[in-house]
Order: sequence, then structure tokens, then C-alpha cells
Amino acid sequence: MNLSWEEFGWEELADGVGRRRLPVWDATVALVVGSSGALLFDTGSSLREGAEIRTQVQALLGGRRVTHIALSHAHFDHVLGTAAFAGAQIYAAAGMEQVLSAGLEELRLDAVRQGVPENEASAAADIVIRPHHLITHEWSIDLGGGREVLLALAGPAHSTYDLVAWIPDAELLLCGDLVEESGDPQAGPDATPGLWPHALDRLLELGGPEARYVPGHGSVVDAKFVRTQREALAARFGVS
Ligand SMILES: [Zn+2]
Repeated sequence: MNLSWEEFGWEELADGVGRRRLPVWDATVALVVGSSGALLFDTGSSLREGAEIRTQVQALLGGRRVTHIALSHAHFDHVLGTAAFAGAQIYAAAGMEQVLSAGLEELRLDAVRQGVPENEASAAADIVIRPHHLITHEWSIDLGGGREVLLALAGPAHSTYDLVAWIPDAELLLCGDLVEESGDPQAGPDATPGLWPHALDRLLELGGPEARYVPGHGSVVDAKFVRTQREALAARFGVS
């Protein structure tokens, strides 16, 4: 697959896998491309950002569209662009549908508190698309041409509903905000700090020692970094 990631400001992670670090909050969106499908992991902080990502992806893939979306967790900078991808099948941890319905106003307010313009936050909340597929343990998606993505539940930890994506042929694990490189891991009111170290054990089990781990914010890291972050979180929250 010869894709010109850099031309669109994306970072190539492996053949047919790339990611972009979005402006302002530095949230990662990743794209995993197979012969028949393309999965987007997270969608940005607004419809405008989602639409920009959609345009870039279609140009990058010569007109092909995103067919699958996986949402790492229900924080505004990872989910509010979702409605720009009408037609894609959306996957999320079971329970996310609650945050995107009953919890939507809280999500919208948090986006505004963090600096999303009020009109953009409201527009995204108005037409939010709820997940079509709710994952309770693991779910494997075949994108064609030998490319599979395993979506696995890893929370609650950073949030109530944390989901990661393992790409076995590329030995890449998309971690969402369970791992952060550009700053300390953020534990807000919906975090479950006591279980966070165990979530990182699960990630290390999935990826193993040789994988590359793609944080929700920051540069790609290795297993050693994840282990160190696990120990730091355990110390910070007083758990083993
Ligand atoms: Zn988050």
C-alpha cells in the first residue's frame, strides 16, 4: 500500500496504518486500512474537525471512505467528530451509548469548559451518532487483505468505558488515553484510578514486549514506557 500520509500531515506507523495528532488538545486519530475497509480510531473534537479528517482520508485513499469507527472513550476530543462519518459502522465499549445519550449534556459542557466554541460543541452534540456495536469483551474486525483489528475492552480506568485496538500484523496497539506520553495521564471525575494499573497490564498482555503503543496524546512508545507508566500510576493512586 503506497499512501502519502505526510502530504496530509499524518504520521505513517506501518504499511496502511497512520495517525494524526490533532491541534489544540493533541488527541490522536488513527486510520487502519485493509483491502476492503478502513477503520478510524477516534474522530476529533468537533464536526468541523471530523469533516476535515474525512476529506483527508478520502483524498489519501483515492476516494475510499471510512467504513468502521472505533471510539476509545467518551471524552469530547475523541468523539465529537463522529457524525461527519455517516454510513460508517461505529464500535464502542458497552455503556458508551449512555454517555452519548443521558450523559451528552455533561460531555457538551466539558467540551466548552476545555475550550471548544459553544456553537461547535452544541452542533456536534445535536447530531451525535450512537454506537451501532457495543463491545463487552473483544471484537475482531476483518478489513480485508489479511488486515484485522481486534477491539478490546480495557477499562474502566482513564474513563468508565476504555477501548483499545490491536493490529496484529503491524504489532501496534492503539491505546486511547490509557497511555499518555505528552503529559501525565489525566484522571478526571469518570476515572477509576484503582483499576488503571490493571488496565495497563491488559495492554501489555495484548501487545507483548515488542509492540509499539500509540498513546491518546503524545509520541509512540514501547512496552517499557507502558510498564513505567503503570508503576507510576500504581504509586500515584496507592494501588499495587
Ligand atoms: Zn480522555
